[in-house]
Amino acid sequence: MACVHYTKKARGLSLLSGGLDSQLAVCVLHDAGAEMEGVTFSTPFFAPDAARKAAAALGIPLHVVDFTDDEIALIKNPPHGFGGAMNPCIDCHATMIRRAGELMARLGYDFVATGEVLNQRPMSQNRQSLGVVEKASGLVGRLVRPLCAQLLEPTIPEQEGLIDRSKLLGLSGRRREPQFELAKKYGLVDYPSPAGGCKLTEKGFGRKLKDLLCHEGLDERRLVELLLVGRRFRLPDGTGVILGRDANENRLLAERRTPSDTLVAPVSVPGPTALLPRVASDADLEAATRIVCAWSRFDSFPGEITVKIVADATTTERAISRPYLRETFLSFQLT
Ligand code: SF4
Repeated sequence: MACVHYTKKARGLSLLSGGLDSQLAVCVLHDAGAEMEGVTFSTPFFAPDAARKAAAALGIPLHVVDFTDDEIALIKNPPHGFGGAMNPCIDCHATMIRRAGELMARLGYDFVATGEVLNQRPMSQNRQSLGVVEKASGLVGRLVRPLCAQLLEPTIPEQEGLIDRSKLLGLSGRRREPQFELAKKYGLVDYPSPAGGCKLTEKGFGRKLKDLLCHEGLDERRLVELLLVGRRFRLPDGTGVILGRDANENRLLAERRTPSDTLVAPVSVPGPTALLPRVASDADLEAATRIVCAWSRFDSFPGEITVKIVADATTTERAISRPYLRETFLSFQLT
């Protein structure tokens, strides 16, 4: 009778953003003998679309985890602070790895992998930061970084022979040529730019987010999601104004209004809808009606402009005699 050898195949869960490095991590681990699945995260600040595309191209299953509550908690209190904008990258990354680790344990996998490259980003991917992230994620020994593993201590699955360490790489630094060569080798052609797609890294978005945090707070997910919509103003007494930029945004603002919001929209001329989550004073409401008028197409409509104000269950109309210039309100505008 023939002798049969059973070899356990390592099963890993790889953080997949859709970027090149995250795709290469999967390819390298396949070469090292592991069976891989992807995990990605979804919040109002970044979408899983690129990861979905990458998983389909790599032919691996993808787990999509809603990360909104985690991200908001980190924005309120980032233990390791923010990057250049409102991006709590070190803690965000560590928490994603921790969530991936929880999924790993639930599904009975052997390790979590990432596409990090030592020293690729001076602040978040130096040796110390990699150690901080590994410790904060609670996955010490089970976190495999296949693109730079040769420069790091062997992980448990490597020590146990589940992954062939000799097939893992020793990339370091900011040069991207080695990754582009590997992309050719593995036939990867479609990948977004590194770190692209996260609104938290954008300074302009960060200003809006900070403003919301300081005024209405981040507990209402609807208001967090509405950060992606419209122009933003903060009026002198504290009222926030979200002003639609086109017909779609106007419709969305009207649809997402709750009974505690006030809606302002022109009736007699085409123009934007404004959503005011909380009205702090009559003076602010008056300013909001004038903002709506200033962004309306009043030029070809002589005379007064009529604006409707929807508050509670009541709709009232107000005549605005002279539209103000937009410049009047620019000091209140956030974006
Ligand atoms: S870029 Fe965005 S998603 Fe990525 S670690 Fe930073 S905050 Fe998190």
